[in-house]
Amino acid sequence: MNEEQYKSFFYEFRDNSGQPTYDMKIDKLIQNKKRSLEVSITDLQNFEILNPEVELTNPLLFPDAINGPKEAIKEAVKALKSIIREKDEEYLRLIKHRINLRFYSPPKGTIQVALKDIDGSYIGKLIELEAIVIRSDPENTILETGRFECLTCRSLIDRYFSDGEYQPPVFCEIQQPDGNNCSGRSFNLLKDDSDFVDIRRFEIQDVPENIEVGRSVKSISAYLRDDLVRKSEDIQIRDRIIFTCMVDTRPNRKMQRGQLATFDRFLEIIHFKIIGLEDKDTSFIENSKIIPLERFPLFGYHNEIVLNRNIGIYAITNIKLGTLYIGQSSDIKSRWGNHVQELNKENGSANNLKEEFLMNHPRDYEFWIIEGIKDDLLPNTENWSDEKKDYFKAFISFFLLLRESYWLNQVVPDLLHNVNINKSGVYGNQTLKEYFIQLLTKLGNSTIF
Ligand SMILES: [Zn+2]
Repeated sequence: MNEEQYKSFFYEFRDNSGQPTYDMKIDKLIQNKKRSLEVSITDLQNFEILNPEVELTNPLLFPDAINGPKEAIKEAVKALKSIIREKDEEYLRLIKHRINLRFYSPPKGTIQVALKDIDGSYIGKLIELEAIVIRSDPENTILETGRFECLTCRSLIDRYFSDGEYQPPVFCEIQQPDGNNCSGRSFNLLKDDSDFVDIRRFEIQDVPENIEVGRSVKSISAYLRDDLVRKSEDIQIRDRIIFTCMVDTRPNRKMQRGQLATFDRFLEIIHFKIIGLEDKDTSFIENSKIIPLERFPLFGYHNEIVLNRNIGIYAITNIKLGTLYIGQSSDIKSRWGNHVQELNKENGSANNLKEEFLMNHPRDYEFWIIEGIKDDLLPNTENWSDEKKDYFKAFISFFLLLRESYWLNQVVPDLLHNVNINKSGVYGNQTLKEYFIQLLTKLGNSTIF
């Protein structure tokens, strides 16, 4: 068992300047009334190297932590509790003995893995991955340890639900004075004596540079518990985050004899660090006359995102070359999807954008919203007559063409993939006025001009 070794790690580990890092961290934890101790996996590894005596008795703290994190955390928490008990027993009672150990910062080239590569061989292991948050659920509270009362013998039985699934005892195994087990089968959950924990689910997706064109993008559920839930309030959709986590599984439906026992993988987050948007060279954006209102990686997003400006002007941009394709749509999201599909197709129609795209890396492409109408500014057309709706549509089309033409003229033509424009702000060799007349003709009314 590693409890003793963790205890000596917490007490004896020294950083480069000779400071007892974890001894100090634990004092701080008590002082600040925190419930989680962050433990650098790199420190675990270094500890063994720097302390040959410990290495002799226990060379396994580091490999144990990455190969069997659940067990390692259990042992480390035991050690931590016993140290806190020595320092301030009252505090341990105050936090109801709930202490978390949060591994983070593994040495480079050890447990880093791309989301797309997570398979069955990682189950039960500790991994570190960079991913993008694409969805978050509201926080919730789940029963973690249930205290049950046997209705036959009145004994109390604690049950720990590691994966959150409610599993009351099946029968009572408490030995009775006559030497036999009670075997009672009815239990009462004592809610007030049970332990609950905050939990929150996120859906995370691979980072753009791992996304391969033409292949579906993988995403996975990731759960945060306890004090991490509070910390997760800083997480925003589309944030890029480094997660340290365990890969776990649960049956994806109720298991029945003779049926295929399939399990869903999910991640139990131990530690996370928000690193924000990618640090890309943005000099061309700053120098250009077009500054996007919103930027997304071109691939892997349109399925998940709810755009709050779905009507407007967008651009597909190679942020390295500074080239753009500018378009307008009254349903930007589905138009985005069409573009992605078109670019992913092996054949398909050739155009300037596609030709350039095939010679460059997909991760250099972004989807920009340049200008758009916020959804809440649009009138509710539900009860309008069909004719009024048609006019409104025509008005929107006209407005979009006008604005598209404006933006097309902001870009140096050499950088533009659009073919059907010229410098005088003409769309498709038609003036906007002609286009509008055409729209009205379709509506059966060309008398306005
Ligand atoms: Zn009983």
